[in-house]
Amino acid sequence: MKLTFLGTGTSTGVPTLACQCRVCTSSDWRDKRTRPSMLVRFDGRALVIDTTPDFRAQALRESMDRLDAVLFTHSHADHILGLDDVRVFYFRQQKPIPIYADPQCMNHIQRTFKYIFDGNYPYGGVARLEPHLIDGPFDVEGLKINPVPVMHGNLPILGFRINQVAYLTDVSEIPESSYPLLQDLEVLILDTLRTRPHPTHLTVEQALSVMERLKVRKGFCTHIAHDLGHEETNARLPPHVRLAYDGLQLDF
Ligand SMILES: [Zn+2]
Ligand SMILES: [Zn+2]
Ligand SMILES: [Zn+2]
Repeated sequence: MKLTFLGTGTSTGVPTLACQCRVCTSSDWRDKRTRPSMLVRFDGRALVIDTTPDFRAQALRESMDRLDAVLFTHSHADHILGLDDVRVFYFRQQKPIPIYADPQCMNHIQRTFKYIFDGNYPYGGVARLEPHLIDGPFDVEGLKINPVPVMHGNLPILGFRINQVAYLTDVSEIPESSYPLLQDLEVLILDTLRTRPHPTHLTVEQALSVMERLKVRKGFCTHIAHDLGHEETNARLPPHVRLAYDGLQLDF
């Protein structure tokens, strides 16, 4: 299994439009962050977690040539608005693409992309998607996926654990009941917005304390705002925790 960070930025992306701050104007390519998403390649298959407004550019950058499923964490704009672009994979593969989400998220996606799901779009050229509601562990082409409930402010959303890796984006709190699902992780990819507190995201300090409690071997920060420069932030993190960057790959 190979994991690729398609995007590691917060909802605005970094650089942020019209911002002239140190990080937004940085020449370090690792300070350029598209919206947060993961690509999981396994056994000649590929799934993505979320389809961001940057999905098309991310898929081109990573030379994606197939897509077997989409998993959604939640329905905020920065996680779903690229969904229309999966249609090209449907045209190539001529098979509906399964999408997985919890009921609330699926409902929101089906309202946002009504023309895709109505089945009577008169202009053609839309994907056929096959909605699956998540209500526990499931598998995609033989790969076992364990949903991990987390809180994003007052919104319950999902993270995903696949084997020894967990991806928890957009989290402000991990409920006690989810900690048992996160034992013996080799890698934890975790929301780390910035240093200042935020109502719906973890700070650097909070993310480090989650990683500490879970005793993860390796931690990667994602959903990163323009407050955190890549190099300067890595310099103050413990050696087993790093800021992720767009295009970073992990092999398992
Ligand atoms: Zn987000
Ligand atoms: Zn900025
Ligand atoms: Zn969100």
